Amino acid sequence: MEKFLLEGMTHEEVREVVGEGAVAVVPVGSFEQHGRHLPLITDSRIVTYIAHEAAKLASEKARVVISPTLWLGCSHHHMEFPGTLSLDRELFVKVVKDVGRCLARHGFRRILFLNGHGGNSSPLKVAVDQLRDELGEGVLVALVTYWELNLEEEVRRLRDSGPGGISHAGELETSCMLYLEPESVRREKQHRFVPRWRTRNFGLGWYVPSPAYLGFHVRDFSKTGEVGDPTVATAEKGRKFLELAARRVAEFLVEFSSWEIPELYEEG
Ligand SMILES: [Zn+2]
Repeated sequence: MEKFLLEGMTHEEVREVVGEGAVAVVPVGSFEQHGRHLPLITDSRIVTYIAHEAAKLASEKARVVISPTLWLGCSHHHMEFPGTLSLDRELFVKVVKDVGRCLARHGFRRILFLNGHGGNSSPLKVAVDQLRDELGEGVLVALVTYWELNLEEEVRRLRDSGPGGISHAGELETSCMLYLEPESVRREKQHRFVPRWRTRNFGLGWYVPSPAYLGFHVRDFSKTGEVGDPTVATAEKGRKFLELAARRVAEFLVEFSSWEIPELYEEG
């Protein structure tokens, strides 16, 4: 077992890494429908892989501990599709806060929630803000959603789909699963669905500018649950994207682990 996995450590070993100033990383996934071609566990699998790869890449420069992935997220917007399991948003915020509180209680002073599901973003921000209120300035609590870490440029070069092609169960997620678990991808069932709802101020999908926000359920516009273009997905693109994402997360882990709290109060 990898040395950075919390699940394999003893309490003495945890005390030791806390003493070395380790960053605690909590990957947060989901359990929800991913169209007719990807398994329900997709988001949790991808974010777990990225967390582990990032820990390996960062290991020379930062002490990192990865907790087991929180696999149950906020997926009520997928509930029309069987198999989706979801926590009520308020309860999710409480769960996340409790995990953060436990880590802080054990002495971790830097905690990163690594998110792998769009529906978790807003409640995770609430949880992180409330943890800051509660824990005070002695503990840094951060949130990163892996596809948002300045990857747009690289993704533009990597992708074959147009705007809207990368979204829920679209080109990137399907590529990642083709690389990670090819046997779980039902390619014969994949279906291109790029929503037409796109205006100057609103768009659906990753890397689509959308200053306006809309509360929606996926069933409002996608009958079969996927949003994007899985037909152009390849395992090779998945490998490249996962590597890029892991490198960015590792880069942030190194930055984050070096922030001294007083630096935040630097006076000009
Ligand atoms: Zn997903």
